[in-house]
Amino acid sequence: MKKSISGVTIELRQGDIANQGDCEAVVNAANAQLETGGGVAGAIHTAAGPELTSEARSMAPIKPGEAVITKAYNLPNQYVIHCLGPVYGQDKPEDRLLANCYSNALKLAEEKQISSIAFPAISTGIFGYPVEDAAKVAFTKFIESISSLKHLKNIIFVLYSEKDLNIHKRVLEQIL
Ligand code: ADP
Repeated sequence: MKKSISGVTIELRQGDIANQGDCEAVVNAANAQLETGGGVAGAIHTAAGPELTSEARSMAPIKPGEAVITKAYNLPNQYVIHCLGPVYGQDKPEDRLLANCYSNALKLAEEKQISSIAFPAISTGIFGYPVEDAAKVAFTKFIESISSLKHLKNIIFVLYSEKDLNIHKRVLEQIL
């Protein structure tokens, strides 16, 4: 599913965030120590290799809502933007902290003049954020940011499961 708003495309696709060859940057649903782990962080660190882990480690720790950027090493991208999402029920206010992840990632992408970026559904795995609520936060932030984007033309949301893809499709239709 693809929607175009003021010259910026928001695309939803099912897939693996570590295998998005058509994007300049991919976003990692990181942990505070910027180390490998389960889910997205495990997939990204494994595919990128140990040099990513060592560059990222030098920037740790980060706080919920923050984002940092590294090279992408063996991934088919140029950059990885590492975002620490809130742990649901623990890091509050969750919606504000999750929105900060998206706005900080977009800000870093613009600074590097990146034209395409792929996001996973930050915080919706191990961190327990309800998928539908998280999708509302993400898409609201994208739409709010679109008028300030100069370089970014393609924002891709990569969902691991068909179920999550369908939830995101529904939420995007509702918000637009
Ligand atoms: P968090 O700790 O921020 O919750 P997770 O990595 O546990 O991050 O999960 C975030 C979301 O990404 C979940 O919806 C999960 O199903 C999904 N996910 C897990 N692995 C991948 C992957 N390789 N590519 C894309 N999405 C993934």
